[in-house]
Amino acid sequence: MTKTAIVLGAGIIGVSTAIHLQRRGWQAVLVDRKAPGNETSFGNAGLIQREGVVPYGFPQQVGLLLRYALNNRIDAHYHLKTLPKQVAFLARYWWNSNARRHDAITRAYAPLIENSVLEHKDLIEASHAEALIRKDGWMRVFRTAEKYDQAIAEAALWEREFGVEYDKLGSADVARIEPGLIQNFTGGLRWRDPWSVLDPHALTAAYCAYFESIGGRFVSGDANSLGQAGSGWRISTAEGPLDADDVVLALGPWAEVATKRLGYSFPLGVKRGYHMHYAAQGNAVLNNWTLDAERGYFLAPMNKGIRLTTGAEFATLDAPKTPVQLDRAERVARTIFPLGERLDPEPWMGARPCTPDMMPIIGKAPRHNGLWFAFGHAHHGLTLGPVTGRVLAELMTGEKPFIDISAYSPQRFNP
Ligand SMILES: Cc1cc2nc3c(=O)[nH]c(=O)nc-3n(C[C@H](O)[C@H](O)[C@H](O)COP(=O)(O)OP(=O)(O)OC[C@H]3O[C@@H](n4cnc5c(N)ncnc54)[C@H](O)[C@@H]3O)c2cc1C
Repeated sequence: MTKTAIVLGAGIIGVSTAIHLQRRGWQAVLVDRKAPGNETSFGNAGLIQREGVVPYGFPQQVGLLLRYALNNRIDAHYHLKTLPKQVAFLARYWWNSNARRHDAITRAYAPLIENSVLEHKDLIEASHAEALIRKDGWMRVFRTAEKYDQAIAEAALWEREFGVEYDKLGSADVARIEPGLIQNFTGGLRWRDPWSVLDPHALTAAYCAYFESIGGRFVSGDANSLGQAGSGWRISTAEGPLDADDVVLALGPWAEVATKRLGYSFPLGVKRGYHMHYAAQGNAVLNNWTLDAERGYFLAPMNKGIRLTTGAEFATLDAPKTPVQLDRAERVARTIFPLGERLDPEPWMGARPCTPDMMPIIGKAPRHNGLWFAFGHAHHGLTLGPVTGRVLAELMTGEKPFIDISAYSPQRFNP
């Protein structure tokens, strides 16, 4: 008998999981209330971050915390009114970010990241999406010698410990690599191994088309209608009720829509982020994915224009957009590169689905048969889609996952 699965959520995580199940002989159906890849996986910075072995921790130094409290920065912003709702998540995030715990988390997290490019390569080739990919890394640029030296020292450590490769760039190197920059930088750091995606939405759509080409199906449906039916699962879809043996919850920041109803409690939070596309003035060209490291925004030369993406906004998932970081970042970005007009009618907003220990939740639900979780990928969901899909499908089909995934188990929050 062919095993069947509903994969709920057609972002990069759900689509990748559905592919890996279908490849292993299961009949998988992707279900989403929107078209594939239209939420968080739509608007990110497009980096497959092979260098991202160290998850972003919560600041520990009192001075820095006080500066964040002023709420006037580009890299972080918070909604004061809803802060009480986020305190539980933030307190645990802060606790896990202490140097000793953060180091242990990094060691557990690194194997996922280390396999990210290889696992994307497999799906990129299978879905003939090479035209969407660049393989030449990305660059951080620095204004002060202090931050530059710190970053280079950290990169040397990551190279030794995690095999991450980088180039140290002087001021002249940065100007040569990016002649369009109109600001002198003290130096830069180029990560060599990461790949970048010229249109992240198109990549998820290409993976979904590949999934359909190997016999998978996509149907519209709402997670709110998911329930148990006999020994399996049932959901209402545009094509009527759909039954399956197993269900995967890959709902990104909306995971709690389903987990809470099923009796699970995860201390999740979101870090919202914005993007806007810009034209370049005259014939100015931006060659590389570039992070203005001491200000905290990205400029990425994508297919739709130069995409500026912002850092973390601590707010509830459904609060109205407040793109103040985008406005602040745009003002600074215009002083480093001749950006032209805005190309989108309004800023795009997405929400990074976060756990307080900075690791995703991947594995079997502790109290239900045939229920599986794959969410909470925070800053690295695009990076980790294919590797997550592979290890979860391996677990579901009874294979031994090719890396140890015990650290990502849902049981750490729901014993
Ligand atoms: C500004 C920004 C920049 C980023 N840059 C990067 C980057 O460079 N590299 C990187 O690796 N990551 C990056 N990320 C993070 C990355 O985008 C996310 O981690 C990733 O997209 C999460 O994927 P997902 O599949 O879990 O969630 P999503 O893509 O949000 O997918 C969840 C799906 O669930 C569906 N859904 C929700 N509710 C329901 C319901 N009730 N019924 C049915 N379906 C439902 C949604 O429609 C959606 O399609 C960035 C994020 C942001 C915001």
